[in-house]
Amino acid sequence: MGEQGKRDCLCGCGRKTSGEFASGGCDQFARTAVIGLEYGNTARFLERHGYGRGGRNLRDEDKRRGQSGYG
Ligand SMILES: [Zn+2]
Repeated sequence: MGEQGKRDCLCGCGRKTSGEFASGGCDQFARTAVIGLEYGNTARFLERHGYGRGGRNLRDEDKRRGQSGYG
């Protein structure tokens, strides 16, 4: 695919992509940045969504979902 039909990367880097994100860690950047901006850090993010100590087990929930590829 050429430049035609490509859209701006969702992370705001200004690059064009045929998917949602350009390569080079844009999707990871987006996750990390939103968590930092909206929750402060990953622990608060998990807590806020009911995971972690005294909450749901993130690993178990992810396995149940069966899509992460992290085993
Ligand atoms: Zn990007």
